[in-house]
Order: sequence, then structure tokens, then C-alpha cells
Amino acid sequence: LSGPAPSGPLSPVGSYCQCDFRLKKLRATFRSGITVPEQFRRTQLNNLMAMVNENEEQILKALHQDLAKPKFEAILSELVILTNELHYAISNLRSWMQPEYVSKSLATRFDDCFVQREPLGVVLIIAPWNYPLQLLLLPLVGAIAAGNCAVIKPSEISLATENLMAELIPRYLSQDCYAVVRGGPEETKALLENRFDHIFYTGSQSVARSILQAASVHLTPVTLELGGKCPGFIYGHVNIVAAARRLVWAKFFNAGQSCVAPDYLLCTRATQDTLVPALRQALEDFYGTNPQTCPDLSRIVSPRHWTRLMNLLGRSKGKVVVGGESNEEDKYIAPTVLVDVTEDDALMEEEIFGPILPIITVESLEKGIEFINCREKPLALYVFSDESSVINMVLEKTSSGGFVSNDGIIHMSLPGLPFGGVGGSGWGSYHGRWGFETFSHRKACMLRGWALERLNGLRYPPYRDDKLGWLRWTLGCTSMLRC
Ligand code: NAD
Repeated sequence: LSGPAPSGPLSPVGSYCQCDFRLKKLRATFRSGITVPEQFRRTQLNNLMAMVNENEEQILKALHQDLAKPKFEAILSELVILTNELHYAISNLRSWMQPEYVSKSLATRFDDCFVQREPLGVVLIIAPWNYPLQLLLLPLVGAIAAGNCAVIKPSEISLATENLMAELIPRYLSQDCYAVVRGGPEETKALLENRFDHIFYTGSQSVARSILQAASVHLTPVTLELGGKCPGFIYGHVNIVAAARRLVWAKFFNAGQSCVAPDYLLCTRATQDTLVPALRQALEDFYGTNPQTCPDLSRIVSPRHWTRLMNLLGRSKGKVVVGGESNEEDKYIAPTVLVDVTEDDALMEEEIFGPILPIITVESLEKGIEFINCREKPLALYVFSDESSVINMVLEKTSSGGFVSNDGIIHMSLPGLPFGGVGGSGWGSYHGRWGFETFSHRKACMLRGWALERLNGLRYPPYRDDKLGWLRWTLGCTSMLRC
């Protein structure tokens, strides 16, 4: 499936057997069972690791071509995250694959009762452009670890990385099991007409609706890794200099094009007065007085995205207190901070997904929590405060995909934590074991012998009340035995 996108649409299919022949090949491979043994999964994961390690320079070059991604950021947020995930999966694979024994009742005490993880089949992974390597391959780690075949669809917008993945993946991974499909919305729509066993989609909420519609035709389960507006809430006593530095790093990393970037800040007017100079200072420390010449700042991915951001900025009634400069040819927008932004401002209409940071003032902790709770549940929520009572209150009274106190975006670096949204910010999660679980079916298994047939007799007709009493006891929790 690698190489140029097919010219015609993939055949619209309603059943496994009518699938496009390339998908048919993957499905036949899956049916053959070769992806199931631990050794096969381990080999493919090691091959993926080799692909990343042996082609680091090419990968960094492609990421720079696509987003002017600084090498430092690319290594940290694409390569290190990916190789950590691979190490973690390779070291835990055996234990993840083990059957999980469960507690038994008296009636089942001589049986083997366990949960068996089995692969789902042929899964589809659709990725966005902002972390074009990591967001394509991290889900693939989970899919391979769980023993699936996969069709992988990189974003057409990050073209250099798409080209590189189409070239490298078939060289390192089994072509019978994993296929790269290239193309934009039209090719993806055609691809979605086929039946998959799971669709893992990362991208915008609006496209997610069409993904769901397509999935509904075949009743395909879907994981949605979406975006939205992640709030940063600064309240009470706080180390304002450190908070500003951490916020600036989290917001302007990848030029703000991160699904977990703080989208807007909430604070009291008094906090804003100290926060703005601290943000200004942090920005100058990080990117200098002319950020356009700083190699540590990415560019906006495309002219279309640049225009969208400049439109938002142009329509905003907020006051620019830092930045505001831009250059269309260079797809550059200076790290920009605005104050006096109101709830109904253009910048609050949609996810910003760029280097623009509005500050909204609230009167109290309760008002800030209310502001957050009146909106879609965010993918991440960041609270900055020296006071644990403040942090705990926001933690308890709000709902979000992830929650971090006194920092931003760093939670996604830990493979032990599930990564995903809630409500409008997404369904399902991955990273580490959570990715393995997402791409596995948890099969309930009870292996019975012929023991206790007299006890079994209790459930057969003729039904009698005294038999029911005994049955209640032998099946009930009071007779439960730990596994
Ligand atoms: P997008 O939805 O435009 O595109 C994502 C993928 O969908 C691409 O591969 C694209 O080719 C495909 N696509 C686009 N239009 C389609 C259509 N009509 N039908 C079928 N497929 C289509 O998203 P994007 O602009 O690439 O990414 C930005 C969004 O993704 C932001 O909202 C961001 O918050 C979100 N995001 C979420 C995460 C996460 O992990 N939760 C990570 C990164 C980005």
C-alpha cells in the first residue's frame, strides 16, 4: 500500500471477502496467525526500533522540512517518546500477553477462569501532522504488541514525513502485515469504506464525525484522540517566574501546535499583572528579542493554517501585550500573548492550535472552575498554585483527559499513564499498556472439566425452590475464591 495513493477509490465493500485486494492480503496474513506469537511481535517492535535509530538524521530532516521543527524538540517529542514506548512495550510484552486469572465461585472452583487478550484483526491508524512521526507510530506500537495487522495513514499535510514513512516502513516491517496508505481526505474516505476491526483516529473533532459515520456502517469500534481547548489555571500563591517559564515552554513548543498545549490561561486580574511581565521575560529568555531569527521556534505547518490563525488574531478584541508580529512567506507567527480577552472572543471559538495565548480573568477559584466546567471536557488541564488545596479542588471538581499541576504537556512522556480524552476531547486511550489494551479484545474464558456434576445438577430442570437456594449460594459472592 505504500507509494502513491491509488488513483481510484478502494472498492466500496461491506464484507470481509469483498475487500480491496491489498487489504485482503493483510486479512489473509492475520488469519494465518503469524502475528500472534510473542516472538513475531517482539521482532516487529525491534525492527521498528531499528528503523527509528538507523534513520534518525532523515527523520529529523523531514520533521524540519514539515514544521521547521527544532532538532531538540523533535528528539524529545518524537524520537524519545517513541523509543521509550518501544522499550516499554518490548520489556512488558510477555506479562501483558499472560492470561489474567479471576476470582471464582464455588460452582466454578475447579475451572480455569481467565481473561485472554487476543488481537482484533486488521486495524486502521489515521494520524495528524503536528507530531507526524510519534502520532503515527505510537499507536502502531500498541497494535503490533497486541498482535494485529495494520493499515497506517500518515497526514498528507506533513508531506516530507509522509514520504519518509512510506519509504521506510515497508523496508523494516513485514509488508504482509503492515501497509502505509497515502493521501488526503478523499483517499481516507475511500479507505474508510472498507471494513476494519478497529479504527484509531487522531485529529480534529470535525473530521472525527465523518470517521464515526464511516465506522458505523460496519459497526467498527473506534478510538478518537481529539483536541479542544486545554485550560491553564493559575491561582493563589504561586512561583510566578517558574510558572511562566513552564507555561511558555508548554504553549510555544512546536509553535503551539500541540493537542495538549495550554490553549488559554485563567487567572485573577492581580495575578495577570505579575504574570504578563513574567511571560514576557520567559519568552525573551527562550527565543530572544526577535523570535523569527531563533532556530528554536517551529513554523506554522501550512499557509492555510497560518491564515486561519491570523484570522483568529485579527478578529480578537483582546489586547496584544507580547508578540503579534507575523510573516506569511515564512509561515511565522511570533509567540503572542493577549489580555482583556472575553468569553465570547474569536480566540475562544475554537481550539487555537498555534502560538497565540489569550488570558481571561476570573474573580475566584470557584468562578475559574465554573468557567472550565461550562465547556467541553478538555484533553488536558493544568493548574498552577503553591497551595495543594487549590490543586486538589480543581482536580476533584473538573473532568479532563489528563491533569497536571505546576507544569504542562509533560504527562504524555510517561508510558504508565493512559493518554486520551474524555467527552469531546476523545474516546479511549493509549500509551504503554493502555495501547496494548486498546488493540486487544479481552476474551472471557472458562475452561471446564467434568467435576462437580452433582452440583451442576442444581441448575437443571425440574426447577425447585430448594435447588435455587443452593444455587444462589454456590454462584454468589460469599462463596467467591481468590484466583
Ligand atoms: P485532521 O482531522 O484535519 O486530519 C487528521 C487526519 O485525518 C489526516 O490523516 C487527514 O488526512 C485525515 N482527514 C482529514 N480530513 C478528512 C476527512 N474529511 N475524512 C477522512 N479523513 C480526513 O486533523 P489535523 O489538522 O491533522 O490535526 C489537528 C487536530 O488534531 C487538532 O484538533 C488537535 O488537537 C488534534 N490532535 C489530537 C491529538 C491527540 O492525541 N488527542 C494529537 C494531535 C492532534
